Amino acid sequence: MAYLSDPKETVAVLQRYRFNFQKKFGQNFLIDGHVLAKIIDAAGVTKDDVVLEIGPGIGTMTQALCEAAAEVVAVEIDRNLIPILTEDTCREYDNLTVINEDVLKLDIAAVAREHGGKPLKVVANLPYYITTPIIMGLLEKRLPVAGITVMVQKEVAERMQAAPGSKDYGALSLAVQYYAETYIAAFVPPNCFMPRPGVGSAVIRLTVREKPPVAVKSEEMLFSVIRAAFAQRRKTLVNSLGNSPEVPCTKEAAAAAIAAVGLPEGVRGETLTLTHFAALADALTDAKYV
Ligand code: SAM
Repeated sequence: MAYLSDPKETVAVLQRYRFNFQKKFGQNFLIDGHVLAKIIDAAGVTKDDVVLEIGPGIGTMTQALCEAAAEVVAVEIDRNLIPILTEDTCREYDNLTVINEDVLKLDIAAVAREHGGKPLKVVANLPYYITTPIIMGLLEKRLPVAGITVMVQKEVAERMQAAPGSKDYGALSLAVQYYAETYIAAFVPPNCFMPRPGVGSAVIRLTVREKPPVAVKSEEMLFSVIRAAFAQRRKTLVNSLGNSPEVPCTKEAAAAAIAAVGLPEGVRGETLTLTHFAALADALTDAKYV
């Protein structure tokens, strides 16, 4: 069995198939065995788990996942990679299903149902051009997913994990932290990939919460308030909310809601915790402030 975590094997496979990297699909293949081991370890995959791998590429992570998990379902958009996976690099694994599909169109609930019904563990070296839609799609649709362990652009991992008051804190931090606990397991330099990406990377694990850490009257209002608060970072919260097309309230109503939840008049969104945003959203959901 030739393991692709050995970069010489990756080069051999690419040459054997005269493979041309497709920039539009965000193809940067992992060529570092230590990083691969860290991802598998961070994902905590066991022989009881069904794993959904997004974008298997030539199968570097797929090989390790098939050895660690009960079953692996790998969804790959590039049809040129399918024969490489099924006839070559992963042909020995009878616990692997390869699907040639855009992950954004895949019925992930059906995948879980068809493979035993347990929540899936998602593991991936993600195509960076669609990191946020993939992750937010998995979280917001409340799909049967227990955990998401993914390689993403370093800055995106830092934004997901950021705490109030830090420069990276924003709508993505709050949205991800509403649904999941975050843990950055490793930072990964460009030389661990072929071809080398122009940015640093990080492995982040999102452990999906059974229920959100705050309860709100309307999730729609919560996320509208959050988006409005960060749309114009340098504005005070009262101005951001009062001028936002996202939130149906006047500046006076915004000021009243901010006062009602005990926040100072000139407060900015970047210092508010999720608990603050939840209180504010509930105050605005109440008709008398809108
Ligand atoms: N997992 C491989 C590795 O670590 O070497 C490849 C990772 S590469 C960063 C991203 C992979 O996602 C590529 O194989 C690419 O073709 C695939 N991909 C890109 N967009 C996709 C989509 N919308 N749905 C499924 N796969 C996609």
